[in-house]
Amino acid sequence: LISRKWKVNPTLIDLGDGVQIGEGTFSIMAGPCSIENEKQIELVVQHLKENNVKIMRGGVFKPRSSPYAFRGLGLEGLRMFHQICRENGIKIITEVMQVSQIEDMLDFVDVFQVGARNSQNFNLLDALGEAQKPVLLKRGISGTIEELLQAAEYIFSNGNEKIMLCERGIRSYETAYRNVLDLNAIPVLKAKTHLPVIVDPSHGIGLRDHVEPMSLAAVMAGADGVIYETHQKPEEAFSDGQQTVNFKESERLIKRMRQAFELR
Ligand code: PEP
Ligand code: MN
Repeated sequence: LISRKWKVNPTLIDLGDGVQIGEGTFSIMAGPCSIENEKQIELVVQHLKENNVKIMRGGVFKPRSSPYAFRGLGLEGLRMFHQICRENGIKIITEVMQVSQIEDMLDFVDVFQVGARNSQNFNLLDALGEAQKPVLLKRGISGTIEELLQAAEYIFSNGNEKIMLCERGIRSYETAYRNVLDLNAIPVLKAKTHLPVIVDPSHGIGLRDHVEPMSLAAVMAGADGVIYETHQKPEEAFSDGQQTVNFKESERLIKRMRQAFELR
């Protein structure tokens, strides 16, 4: 169902209020790794509005490698996130970690993110297929292209066609950066499927100074959008500060990505 052989025309995902994701458009989704507090949400929203970015990312349920690390504000944080974004006309993408959270989150989310660690949580994928909300599905930590496509097939075959695929880097032996952002995946996925392909350069390289070149490379390789981490003070972020750009860097990144998209 997710194959170009089955459906030739690219899938456009409509979030309402003129916000569309898919071929022919270029979507920017930005925000902190974790939602931290009201002030932080307001500052990021302000930054996004100033740069005409319509979708904010931010985790309230955080899959952390250590159980002692900050694990997110949960539903209370999501309600606050939702209220501020609604007041400002910004759409929300946030990670759902388990089936039982879907119902509680449904009214406060525009796009459900499935994280790399849950990329093959088939019960979650089945449930998101039934939920009928757009889903951004990340590639597994060491996931193959085929595994990503089959994971999307789980969602699609349960009746939800609003899926975007996300390349976020795969694990290798290299330790000089966090992951290997697989730019090959972009044209290969675009050829195989009609679904939008989004790139996450923040988790892809894991180093804030190099987020910009990888984002621009993703644009030129044909990505339909980019999702990246930004924060008013990255050094103080509750999670993933090392790969998070500040607002000045973010503004430059947005401008340059839009220029690159025009050239494509
Ligand atoms: C995130 O987006 O903050 C995240 C945890 O991403 P991933 O699942 O790709 O590691
Ligand atoms: Mn993160």
